[in-house]
Amino acid sequence: MMSTEITAKAGPLAGTRHDADGRPALSVLLCAPRGFCAGVDRAIQIVELALERYGAPVYVRHEIVHNKYVVESLKRKGAVFVEELHEIPPTEQPVIFSAHGVPKSVPEAADRRNLFVLDATCPLVSKVHKEAEIQYRRGREVVLIGHTGHPEVVGTMGQLPPGTVSLVETVEDARRLVARDPDNLAWITQTTLSVDDTRDIVAVLQERFPTIAAPHKDDICYATTNRQEAVKAVAPAVDAMIVVGAPNSSNSQRLREVAERAGCPRAVLIQRASDIDWRDFAGISRLGIAAGASAPEVLVEEIIDAFANHFDVAVEEVRTAEETISFAVPRELRAVAAAKSAASSAAAPNAPAPAQNAAE
Ligand code: SF4
Repeated sequence: MMSTEITAKAGPLAGTRHDADGRPALSVLLCAPRGFCAGVDRAIQIVELALERYGAPVYVRHEIVHNKYVVESLKRKGAVFVEELHEIPPTEQPVIFSAHGVPKSVPEAADRRNLFVLDATCPLVSKVHKEAEIQYRRGREVVLIGHTGHPEVVGTMGQLPPGTVSLVETVEDARRLVARDPDNLAWITQTTLSVDDTRDIVAVLQERFPTIAAPHKDDICYATTNRQEAVKAVAPAVDAMIVVGAPNSSNSQRLREVAERAGCPRAVLIQRASDIDWRDFAGISRLGIAAGASAPEVLVEEIIDAFANHFDVAVEEVRTAEETISFAVPRELRAVAAAKSAASSAAAPNAPAPAQNAAE
């Protein structure tokens, strides 16, 4: 059930009047859940804890999560980002795989080079990898619904031998799919897709291939689903919507599309306050703000502060779900994580206890 909660910021809710400084009133509806999911949080923790335990440099294959602000701040702490393993010199320092997951060939290459790997693949992406393998072992042709070239899709396709996974991106692709074995198919998906688009694609696949096997549990993850639901609740009630996120962040792009389809006249994806084109927001009185799963809260705050310079802002949070999931870090980093958490509890004895680990 949806609930709302007023959070901070002075000024009245929506209205057409101006404050004493002549700024028009702006009601900001802040989507919740928003921002970091458990997989992103774990991946960033892995880099930070690895830096603490092993010192710099720590090598990270691909952007750990799709957010420039996060990547730049980890670079400043000593993380070195590469696209491929061959860019890493001979080293005993850790090499971290990003939250999006990697094809099997990558850990195999790391093994051959004797690299010390810490895997930050989100456990919910690893679940999809396992499904792909199970279906393949059962002799089924795997149909992956996802976006061509996205690192998660590359990683999932790379769990099986080349040429064995059929990638479907759109309803049209599903209509055109030529199956090698039409009675023996299974579908799986990228974790960050539009829930509604995927439903349509699956409907076409099921109509064309009635025996196609479905995943045991939805592959689109809880964080993607929850953020889209929050956007759907806010989008019809606002004049414009900002999704905080990177252009290469799949789940952020989907949030922008969801906002438009849910009736928001103007939905834009921006990375930081400096990207705001103020002409987009002239004359609005209600603004929605959402944030993709790889966008830190500090960027949401930065954007609200920027609006507060132009408008008399009042912020209301619209929460459509509670999230308590967290994932454990790899074994090698647990002692550092525990020491850090004990130190922060001692510094803030009344702080809420960390959420329980749901999975590794
Ligand atoms: S968006 Fe979902 S699958 Fe991706 S890292 Fe977050 S929790 Fe994991």
